[in-house]
Amino acid sequence: MATICAMTKTKTQFENGRTNRIGRHLGTSGGLHKMLATAESLGCETVQIFVSNPQGWAEPVPRPDAEAFAEGSKKLGLDPVVVHSKYLINLASQKPESRERSARALAFEMVAAGAIGASLVVVHSGSHGGEGEEVGISRLVDSLDRARSLAADLAAGSSRVAEVIVENSVGGGTQLCSTFEALGEVSRRADVRVCVDTAHAFVAGYDLSTPQGARGVAEKLREHLNSDVALLHLNDAKNEMGSRRDGHRKIGEGQVSPGAWAELFAGLPGIPVVMETPYEDAEADAEEVRRVKELAGGLPVPPARV
Ligand SMILES: [Zn+2]
Ligand SMILES: [Zn+2]
Repeated sequence: MATICAMTKTKTQFENGRTNRIGRHLGTSGGLHKMLATAESLGCETVQIFVSNPQGWAEPVPRPDAEAFAEGSKKLGLDPVVVHSKYLINLASQKPESRERSARALAFEMVAAGAIGASLVVVHSGSHGGEGEEVGISRLVDSLDRARSLAADLAAGSSRVAEVIVENSVGGGTQLCSTFEALGEVSRRADVRVCVDTAHAFVAGYDLSTPQGARGVAEKLREHLNSDVALLHLNDAKNEMGSRRDGHRKIGEGQVSPGAWAELFAGLPGIPVVMETPYEDAEADAEEVRRVKELAGGLPVPPARV
């Protein structure tokens, strides 16, 4: 059995046909090393972190342990390693100086993410500030280009730059991209892949309250984004469908039905999953990872011992 697992590990990583890699957002206040230990104890196969204070403009500081982290996460098989960029970034702002500041901040995060071996940087789609979604989307598309070119300059060919992906919003106020149509338009025009937050989609009006609803949501995602969904933020929703009020709950403790998660996974094979649900204790957090693995079609094959 162990030999078979080892031989087929690269091809079929999971038993029972599971294709989605499961992980969660983890804090790094105890250092990257401690975060890796937590990821391992929770059974994470992918992980998301911040590389700077998400509520402030301070740039990420180069980390002396960047190389060790990149190696450690590779050893644990964490893939992808995702960075969530600052909440302050608004690439669609009405003010040119705010757009430039946002593009620069994002560029720094893309370079810092690359330095620790992260492959993806999530950025929020931003707010148009009152001039309408079309104007906002055009600004977002231009700012994404600007951020990528700044990141290339900052890295100056010496280090890897992580890929930026755009996240859907709840559609509150003048927020962009609460619909898959708008997200698809940004994806095509800016040539970016996207991150879909399930709690945001639900409160924006996408019905994940039943298995049939979830099947329809997965279909719509495939229709508008095709293969450009790079990541799922898997969060249960605290608030009602259509409420446009954000709030995350642990999987199974919010408005989404358990059957809906299974349908969503079945309709979105291979897309990695990161939970941003409330922390509880080590046991409850590990149980949530285990539960989501089951909902996604099976528990992992234990690593082969040589
Ligand atoms: Zn986010
Ligand atoms: Zn949220």
